[in-house]
Amino acid sequence: MLAAVLKGRGILEIEDRPEPPPPPPGYVRVAVRSVGICGSDVHYYQEGAIGHFVVRAPMVLGHEVAGTVEAVGPGADGFPLGAVVALEPGIPCGKCHYCRTGAYNLCPEVRFFATPPVDGAMQEYVLHPAEFTYLAPGLTTDEAALAEPLSVGVYAVREARIGIGTRVGIVGAGPVGILAALAAESAGGRVALVDVREDRVAAARQIGLEAYVQVPPALDDCEVVLECSGSSGGLRLAQQWVKRGGVLALIGLGEASSMMLDGLDLSLRGLTVRGIFRYANVMPAAISILQRHRERLHIFLGTTIGLRSLPAFLEQKEYLKPLKTIVRVPE
Ligand SMILES: [Zn+2]
Ligand SMILES: [Zn+2]
Repeated sequence: MLAAVLKGRGILEIEDRPEPPPPPPGYVRVAVRSVGICGSDVHYYQEGAIGHFVVRAPMVLGHEVAGTVEAVGPGADGFPLGAVVALEPGIPCGKCHYCRTGAYNLCPEVRFFATPPVDGAMQEYVLHPAEFTYLAPGLTTDEAALAEPLSVGVYAVREARIGIGTRVGIVGAGPVGILAALAAESAGGRVALVDVREDRVAAARQIGLEAYVQVPPALDDCEVVLECSGSSGGLRLAQQWVKRGGVLALIGLGEASSMMLDGLDLSLRGLTVRGIFRYANVMPAAISILQRHRERLHIFLGTTIGLRSLPAFLEQKEYLKPLKTIVRVPE
């Protein structure tokens, strides 16, 4: 089967690899169809590392995955052959303190697609635990692949307790920011986005979201701000946009040295800071939001490429233009 394998900084090869065996008990063998390109895939491709995660051996990219059920192992019931599924890319240990208390996103032993040394899913087949495989009826595989980036937003909405009428600011109108806006809106939040890129603000407005270029109309205005840009300027704006007593949730991952908060302001205005790392227990909610907002998903689905085109696509930095790129496997 074909797989997109990162061999070193800037070296991605489409390689022929052996197919996985028939699924063991509790596993599903999934024919991968659609994989979104995430900023982290690009970072691993360009820099060979994200923080202390360093690519030291060949690694398959891709963690925003959807496909169809191809074979089912003993005990993995409820997965009709051919059904569209979205995969949760992180498999936690299930035994540690974090796993036992429901915060399995913090499991130190988690094996997460395309996070070294674990292979990702830009390959024709993967074996996946049924427990972390979710049916996505009514969605195409391109749409279902959005369940992963949307999950971050759903988790942030839960952790920041966004509810009916909560004024929510979102800094960064990339895929994670706009999907988080759909999650916040679904919870009843009154949402506005800000981005420095006019095309991204335009994409958000195209699906009826309130969005602004550079700055919102008023600072000191939101009960919750979700920082999704991972930039120092974005973080500064996010802190200014939260009002007294509000919650600042940090989702975007930027350079370690640049993600600085104003500690005195946090104290004087009684702000709460919440770090958001990945997500736990939210994929079904993310899928139901996608099902209810299908007519708004087209802004993410305008750019699709075949697996074989991926090396040239990355080399030419084509991913910088569209809001999201979906890699079709195996085309
Ligand atoms: Zn991602
Ligand atoms: Zn664990």
